[in-house]
Amino acid sequence: MSDSAAVLPLLLDRREKLQAAARSIADPSLHDLLSQVDAALNRIQSGAYGLCESCHEPIEPDRLRADPLARFCLDHLDAKERSAHERDLQLATQIQSKLLPPASLIVSDWETHYSYQAAGPVGGDYCELIPDEDGQSLFFALGDVAGKGVAASLLMTHLSAIFRSLLSVHLPLPELMSRANRLFCESTLSAHYATMVCGRASRGSLEISNAGHCPPLLVRNGRIERLDFPGLPLGMFCSMQYPVQHINLGAGESLILYSDGVTEAVDASATEFGEDRLLDFLLQSTPHSAAALAQAIVARVAHHRGPQPPTDDLTVLVLRHR
Ligand SMILES: [Zn+2]
Repeated sequence: MSDSAAVLPLLLDRREKLQAAARSIADPSLHDLLSQVDAALNRIQSGAYGLCESCHEPIEPDRLRADPLARFCLDHLDAKERSAHERDLQLATQIQSKLLPPASLIVSDWETHYSYQAAGPVGGDYCELIPDEDGQSLFFALGDVAGKGVAASLLMTHLSAIFRSLLSVHLPLPELMSRANRLFCESTLSAHYATMVCGRASRGSLEISNAGHCPPLLVRNGRIERLDFPGLPLGMFCSMQYPVQHINLGAGESLILYSDGVTEAVDASATEFGEDRLLDFLLQSTPHSAAALAQAIVARVAHHRGPQPPTDDLTVLVLRHR
C-alpha cells in the first residue's frame, strides 16, 4: 500500500474528530488544523502527498509517519519547524543519555566497560548493564534498532523499558527473551525490529542468547571463539523462541559484544573494517582491563576510518572475568 493510500482513512477519521471538537470548543487552532488536514487531503488527490513543497523530493518516511501533515523535507523546514525539530532531538538526546548505564562496572567477579558513539545527535544502539539486587549477577545487552534518528532512538528507549520491567520479575533468560520479543512485536509496527545479544554473567559463567546480532566474541588465552548461534531479530515473529548458551570463563578471559558500526566502518576507499580485521586485532592485543580493551577496539576502528565521518552508531561492550 502506498503512503497516501494508508494515510487517507486516518486523515478522514481525524478530520471528523476535529470537526466535532471545533463545534463544541471555540478554539481557532482547531480550525487551523482542520485546514491543514484538508490541504493534506488535497495533496493526496493531486498525487503530491509526501513530497516536499520546496524541492519536490520525498519527505523522510519516519517523519511523515510521525506527522502525516508534514509538507517539507528536513532540508526545507521553516525556522519555527526547524527549531521544533531541534528541540525534539535535544530531548531525545537527554532521554537517551539518562538511559545509558555507567561506563564501567564491577559486579561479582566481572568487570565491564562499554563505549557508545552515536553517529548523529541520538543513536539506535542499545546498551544495558543491570546488576541483580543481590549483586551476584549482571544482566547485559547490546542491540541495534533498525532505522536512524529520533524514531530509532525512541524505539531503543521502548526496548529498554520492556527489558527493565521484565527484569524486575526475575525470569530465566530464555523466557525473558521470548517475552521481550512478544511485547516488542505487539507494541511496534511490523517494519520495526531490533537485533540484540543479551545474557547474564554470574560467578565465572555466562548465559547468553542472540537475536540476529553480530556474533559475540570470546577472547581466551591467545585465541578467539566466535559464538555463532541462530536467532532472528526481536520484533519479527511474536512466537519466536531464543536458545541460550552456557559458557565458563577463566580469569582474564573476556566476552566482547559490538554493533555493526564496528565491522561496517568504512575508510576513504569504502573498504569496511570487517570481522577479520577485528579478529586479527583481538589476537594481537593484550590489554589488562575491560576498559583498555574496549578503548583499544574503538581506537583501531577510528584509525581504519580515518577522516571519514561515521555512518552508523558504534558500540563496544567488554565483560572481563577478573
Ligand atoms: Zn525539500
